[in-house]
Amino acid sequence: MTETALLVGGGGREHAIARALTASPDCELYACASNRNPGIASLAAGFEQVSETAADDIVAYATEVGADVAVVGPESALEAGVADALDDAGVYTFGPRADDARIETDKAFQREFMAEESIPGCPDFAVFEDTEAACEYVDDYDGDLAVKPAGLTGGKGVKVTGDQVTKEEAKAYLRDSDYDEVVLEERLVGEEFTVQAFVANGDVRPTPAVQDHKRAYEGDEGPNTGGMGSYSDAAAELPFMSFDDYAAAVEILEATVAALDDYKGVLYGQFMLTAEGVKVVEFNARFGDPEAMNTLPVLETPFLDVVTAGRDGDELPELEFAGKATVCKYAVPDGYPADPDSGARIEVDEENVGDALLFYASVDAREDGLYTTTSRSFAVVGVEDTIEAAERSAEAGLAAAGEGLRVRHDIGKPELVQRRIDHVAELRD
Ligand code: AMP
Repeated sequence: MTETALLVGGGGREHAIARALTASPDCELYACASNRNPGIASLAAGFEQVSETAADDIVAYATEVGADVAVVGPESALEAGVADALDDAGVYTFGPRADDARIETDKAFQREFMAEESIPGCPDFAVFEDTEAACEYVDDYDGDLAVKPAGLTGGKGVKVTGDQVTKEEAKAYLRDSDYDEVVLEERLVGEEFTVQAFVANGDVRPTPAVQDHKRAYEGDEGPNTGGMGSYSDAAAELPFMSFDDYAAAVEILEATVAALDDYKGVLYGQFMLTAEGVKVVEFNARFGDPEAMNTLPVLETPFLDVVTAGRDGDELPELEFAGKATVCKYAVPDGYPADPDSGARIEVDEENVGDALLFYASVDAREDGLYTTTSRSFAVVGVEDTIEAAERSAEAGLAAAGEGLRVRHDIGKPELVQRRIDHVAELRD
């Protein structure tokens, strides 16, 4: 039986979701996003250019194409109630309702929820609405802090003292930005990793750990971005952690789902492996971008079967993975993230990616070619037996990139992976 699926979102993450959904021959895909992603458009029977937050327009399109199920990629859409609107229109949506998405969209709620429900791995934190009270807390706190606006900032609003800023700069930041609500929390020191799980009907199905690289430049220098690239290993854990560390992260996700009421969609845990064990940096209510591009290409269980099991109230299938390592590298416009060269014509040679996978992201396909936006342009993903081989495959795939794009070449290279291993060994010493 054909399942008609509607995908919301037009980034690299959504191109990976589109590829995973259409791997099922019985999936007929329609997509909507504010940018015309050529990779998604080539897999879809129809593509509607509409804002990801325009819930009414998205429901109208879902109705027009007769969607049976929907998958929502971006957090902005979840926050805007797109999953609620689709669910209410009778289109089962693999993605949480806005109230449940607060686990991501409201960091104050997220920490208070963790504390109330005794979810393990919660750092010390305090929530402030008053800027001067927050500044006083910064002054009095014995140690470094992460300063986090409670609302969504695309991962770019967080400032960490002792790392990115001094305490004086953190206070100036609080005063200049004058957020309605901020979370101040203990600075976690260690190595970050992500575990994403599929969740529905009370079941939690974790996928392998991934490490993203947020900083713009090689050697983890420069400002934070949406993520410049990421890697995963052939095993569920990463080279700098043990399987027990991975299992601790999965336990935290399971405890979170048990405390939430009937959550559905992807629950994404961002973790810090510290000297004291695994701590929660944050939760997201959807796939990571880039992390979806590591996970979905090695998922052998049809993703459509996960979504339809969720809809039908069935047990979610146990997941099978290919047992391959992946390395993802993003090509971004010159000047990204501070001053991206948007509207620039770029060339992507799809025939020249070798064995790597190519995922289009925030590019605009116009009649006369491809143009950059203010965000990341496309990603290549190497999928091989080892991280080293996957990295070489991703590098070879970057031959597809024309002029005017920038890449962090160090992601997945043996030297950087070794630095992570050494870092954790030092912490544990
Ligand atoms: P978030 O939006 O919460 O993921 O934060 C963005 C980035 O800020 C994270 O990926 C971390 O690198 C950093 N960060 C957030 N919270 C903390 C913390 N408590 N300690 C250290 N770094 C943090």
